[in-house]
Parts: sequence; C-alpha cells; structure tokens
Amino acid sequence: MANLSSNVLARNAQLYDRVKRVIPPPEWATFAEDVDAILELKRTRNAVILAHNYQTPEIFHGVADIVGDSLLLAREATKVDADVIVLAGVHFMAETAKLLNPGKTVLIPDLKAGCSLADSITPADVRLMRQRYPGAPVVTYVNTSAAVKAESDICCTSGNALRVVESLGTNSVIMLPDEYLAQNIAKQTGVKIIAWKGHCEVHELFTPDDIRQIRDNHPGVTVLAHPECPPEVVAEADFSGSTADMSGYVETKRPPRVVLLTECSMSDNIAVLHPDVEFIRPCNLCPHMKRITLKNIRHALETDQHQVTIDPAIAASARRAVERMLAV
Ligand code: SF4
Repeated sequence: MANLSSNVLARNAQLYDRVKRVIPPPEWATFAEDVDAILELKRTRNAVILAHNYQTPEIFHGVADIVGDSLLLAREATKVDADVIVLAGVHFMAETAKLLNPGKTVLIPDLKAGCSLADSITPADVRLMRQRYPGAPVVTYVNTSAAVKAESDICCTSGNALRVVESLGTNSVIMLPDEYLAQNIAKQTGVKIIAWKGHCEVHELFTPDDIRQIRDNHPGVTVLAHPECPPEVVAEADFSGSTADMSGYVETKRPPRVVLLTECSMSDNIAVLHPDVEFIRPCNLCPHMKRITLKNIRHALETDQHQVTIDPAIAASARRAVERMLAV
C-alpha cells in the first residue's frame, strides 16, 4: 500500500477493518482510491448506491448504501431520497428502480450487465402464453425487461413468489420465465403453475451430485439452495430460499458449517458478518453481475452514464405490475 496516499488509507481504515477477512491488503490497495472517490462523489451528487447480494465485497461493503435481494432493492427504491441512484446489479434491477423513481436519474455502470432469465423471454412470448392459456393470470419474475413486465398482471421475486401466486385466488397461473423457480413453487401450492423455459445460467449448473460431494468432503455441512436451482437440487438441500432468506437462515440458525448454492459473492458478503460460521465456497460466478466494478461505478457518477430510460408507452403498465407485487 506504499504508493497510496496516507490520507486515503486513514480515511478508509474503518472500512477496511470490516472487509479484511475477505479482501487481502494488496487487493484493497487496488480498491482504496476508487472507494474514496466514490464516497466523495456520493456526497457531492446526492447519490445512493443500491447493490445486489451478488456484488463483490468491495462494492457491497465498501460503497453501497442499500444492499439486498431483488425484492428488498425494489422496496427500498421506493423510499430513496436522493437525486441519483446507481444500481450495482444488472439491467432489469436498474429498470425496476427507474420504474419506481421516474423523476430521478438512475444509472447502470455497464449497459451490458444483463441476465440469462431476462433474455429468455419477449413481450410477444407473453402474449402467446396468454392466448394459449386464456384466463390464467401472468406472474412475471422481476428478472425480466420492463417490456415483459408491462405484459404481466403482477411481478414476483424468489422471496415472495409463493405469496404472490396464492394472492391471485385462481386455480392456475402462468409463471414466467424461470422454469425451475416455477417448478419449485409448484411443489408448495395447490395452484396449477404453467411454466416457461428460461433458466438462470448460474443456478442451473448445480447438480445433486455436487451436494453429495460437498456433504462427503465437509461432514455436517448445512446446504442452502436458491430456488432458481433445478428441483432435484432443491430436494437434496436442507433449506431453499431467496438470498435474503439464506442470509436470514445463517443469522438465526448459526450453522457451524454452511454452503450456499447460489452466486459466489454471496458467501463472501455474509462471511464478513459471521466470522463464527465456516462457509464452503463452490464458486459459480454470474458474468453479468461481475461487469459492475468500482471503476465503472466511479465513472457512472463522474459522467452520468449510463442513464436508464423506459419507453413511457410501457412504463405505466410495467410499474403497475411491480407495485401490485409490492402491495402483496
Ligand atoms: S445470477 Fe442468474 S438470475 Fe441473477 S443476474 Fe445472473 S444470470 Fe440473472
């Protein structure tokens, strides 16, 4: 750290103390100046940073104001009192923040931060499903474009999907686009779930064999699986839930040894908060989440790029679907 200004290091010493278990000193040396600059830019621009649980620890613990899963970020986006929102996450999350804050500047640091689920379905596909299953309401996962949300009756996240499905009071629902989430929810409800064929490219990689190997190599481990994993993986896990549910499980149950079958950075981020828990870390990275870096967050705040805009013709319907979810 010899080349860094001692002022920068001194200002951020407390911050480093927090993350030192997951970020070695030489790595922090490459982050400290950007962290310092971003903290100052947030003050001068009256900006807040919303970061998803899959962001890396220097973003999650270093510069973010609000952290959480998609549901929490959407809820908190309705309460933000700032001129500028930077979304450290993927594009659909920035669109959701913009839908809920049409008058604010919403920035996504890299426009290519997409999502395999969002890419798996178009508005025309939703219209086709409605024609094929007349009368069944459309529940759309938030991991979709605003244009797809606009074709939907209501949105859901992995944290509230069951509640949303059962709130509709119908015998069947069309649940888009995550096939595995739909199948996992179908096992918990009497409502008939009609699924699409989208998959998360991170969670679809986990297999029951992975779990067996982890259990063999790490006796006593508690296995938590995200519901975007295939149903046969969820069936072999000890618990399944959204990233917020997983975090809550670790917080309340304090398993001595745990593995989170989800994106890699999630374990790093909650390991910072639970030094007494041993995290086993098979690493499946989301290449889209990893497009967001301190450097491009700083650039976004310096240049106002990239501003998220939503066609007014679809914004009102998409907003209605998100707000209806938030009211459940
Ligand atoms: S982890 Fe999966 S669902 Fe989340 S942004 Fe990446 S591809 Fe999309």
